[in-house]
Amino acid sequence: MADELFDVAIIGAGINGSGIARDAALRGLRVVVIEQDDLCSGTSAASSRLIHGGLRYLEFGEFPLVFESLRERIVLRRIAPHLVKPLRITIPIYASARRGKWLIRLGMIAYDLLSIGKSVANHEMLDRAEILASEPGLAKDGLIGAARYFDAQVEFAERLVLENLLAAESAGAEILTYHRVTRINIEAAQVRSLDCIDLLLQQPRQIAAKSVVNAAGPWVDSVLALARDDARRLIGGTKGSHIVVGAFAGAPRDAFYVEAAMDGRPFFIIPWNDQYLIGTTDSRFVGDLATVRATRDEADYLLTETNRVFPQANLSIADVHYSYAGVRPLPRRDRGPESSITRRHIIRRHRKLARGLLSIIGGKLTTYRNLAEQTVDRLARLLGRKLPACRTRATLLPGAYRIDTARAKLLSLSTEPPLSSAGVERLLGIYGGRAIDLIEFAGTDRQLLRCIDADNTVLAIETVFALRVEMARTLIDVIYRRLMLGLRADQGRPLYAAIAAIAANAASWDDSRQAIEIAALTDYSNSLRL
Ligand SMILES: Cc1cc2nc3c(=O)[nH]c(=O)nc-3n(C[C@H](O)[C@H](O)[C@H](O)COP(=O)(O)OP(=O)(O)OC[C@H]3O[C@@H](n4cnc5c(N)ncnc54)[C@H](O)[C@@H]3O)c2cc1C
Repeated sequence: MADELFDVAIIGAGINGSGIARDAALRGLRVVVIEQDDLCSGTSAASSRLIHGGLRYLEFGEFPLVFESLRERIVLRRIAPHLVKPLRITIPIYASARRGKWLIRLGMIAYDLLSIGKSVANHEMLDRAEILASEPGLAKDGLIGAARYFDAQVEFAERLVLENLLAAESAGAEILTYHRVTRINIEAAQVRSLDCIDLLLQQPRQIAAKSVVNAAGPWVDSVLALARDDARRLIGGTKGSHIVVGAFAGAPRDAFYVEAAMDGRPFFIIPWNDQYLIGTTDSRFVGDLATVRATRDEADYLLTETNRVFPQANLSIADVHYSYAGVRPLPRRDRGPESSITRRHIIRRHRKLARGLLSIIGGKLTTYRNLAEQTVDRLARLLGRKLPACRTRATLLPGAYRIDTARAKLLSLSTEPPLSSAGVERLLGIYGGRAIDLIEFAGTDRQLLRCIDADNTVLAIETVFALRVEMARTLIDVIYRRLMLGLRADQGRPLYAAIAAIAANAASWDDSRQAIEIAALTDYSNSLRL
């Protein structure tokens, strides 16, 4: 890599950087992705994990954004059916709410019209008796009825990011995690190279590139400052927090989209990963992005509002398994309510600063593929190259192939002890058809084909696969962003020692490195507790 001149260097391996890398590599560009942490360790992991049109955006007249998002929802269901699944959402309607029945109905009709071509059902309106029959735990006082509609959910956004990077890698891209960009070198008003530091080896490195895409999410401004000290601020991030709780008394079967009584903001209560994901908040953020955490006040707000809609729940801080928070990389707007800041993305060219430099402002999980297509079209013009047409609308992500074969293979797999049916579903939900690669990677090694947890859902081979094939470098990567155990109610804690031992063997970690990895993982898990 030392002498190589890349067509494009992408800074950031969140959903946007990863999507751009895949598209660019599939169109034949020589691509390098540089990420300071692990993949999907920034905003993309702090989202509500919905692939949605954004019903709320209709209130702000953002019809093109809703149309684009709903179209992308169809595309993502097609190219990643193992990761993106339909989700039924209910909006309860109360007499005292700011948004009345007719406004909600109008929104529902617009949503249906804008999602033309979808495979899920249109919305339905329910009267009070009907909604109480299906969701008896709902608060009854002032309840008029409800609206029901479909959106989609990506349970593990981390895996969506990973699969984009794996596809990019297969198409020839280089992916460097734990590499921080420290300088964008510009000569004669043209981007030439990036200075980086390999944070694990503490070694500097220079990467030459004809163009640079700054896909650093909420860090976009700090990356621009690496090119020029007085670069104008583009991002006006807003912080959003979530809490995760277990099943509670009166808990809903559907996801709920509820208007908060305190401030009229809508928030979600979503069945997710055998728990409930509740969020989000929305407040302007200024501060150190590395230390963004949910606060007790935010958790209290979400708990109080949830208890109001589901009165038997009686949730308190003690019921919160863990929390997470992130900063939306929104375009800067210093005045006006946070919720009214546009969620549309902007692909910004820095003509005055340097030729060959683009920054991504905004962009949702839902619309990443389209954003990537537009960015690579812009790159083609910047580089003066005629590239083949974008293929990501129709090309499946790696885990979307051979899902049925993978299921059959897992069902007939002889592991010690036998994989449970929950284990089969877990592996399909994480790897999709790539579960076949996982099993083949173990070869005939029975030790690697053993279940390591009490419920017989996790295989030893997964840790080795994460480190050797799926770009994991640390135990936190393995637990939180590959095996997805960190997002369980117990944060995967009972398995830390067993997985550390397998990882140490696979990655040749000595005892001291193993202890450091376990300590870092435990600190990280503790930091998510309130
Ligand atoms: C609370 C909340 C809820 C949301 N819910 C949804 C939702 O339900 N559906 C939806 O579609 N969207 C949702 N979004 C929006 C969506 O999550 C984000 O807009 C999107 O994930 C941004 O992705 P990104 O790749 O631009 O940024 P990020 O995911 O933040 O990635 C940027 C990466 O750049 C890296 N980086 C920064 N500086 C450097 C450097 N110097 N060198 C190398 N790497 C660097 C960072 O480490 C980071 O990993 C939500 C956002 C929030 C905050």
